Amino acid sequence: MPFIQPSAPGRPGTAPGSVDYRFARRKLLQQVRSGETDRSEVCDAQRELLRIAEHCSQRATTPCPVCGESTLRIVRFVFGPRLPSGGRVVSTRAELRKLAAGPAGRRCYTVEACLGCRWNHLIEVVPLAGPRAAT
Ligand SMILES: [Zn+2]
Repeated sequence: MPFIQPSAPGRPGTAPGSVDYRFARRKLLQQVRSGETDRSEVCDAQRELLRIAEHCSQRATTPCPVCGESTLRIVRFVFGPRLPSGGRVVSTRAELRKLAAGPAGRRCYTVEACLGCRWNHLIEVVPLAGPRAAT
């Protein structure tokens, strides 16, 4: 899954450098509902993402916005210095804290993926605090 590096400063009131993709998500879902965008164009999660969503994710508190099933999962990846190019999958808060204490410049990407219909969307990108803040 190609991730877009955020260039926008993010919404006011959010952490500095964080980018919220919920508006883009909502717009895309409206296009699917209106028929402007075909469902096959948005329900295209790659096999690897689905595998991660099945085994290393959190169950979403809401049903899938496309198929309505309770098969929606929240997956978190951390990218940045001294991490694999494909990022590191994070499944617990403790793991996230540990990665946040690493070198500065790491970012956490939160993605939702549906095990049922393969819907997937980037939710937000948040810079991690870095070594000084995570004491
Ligand atoms: Zn679905």
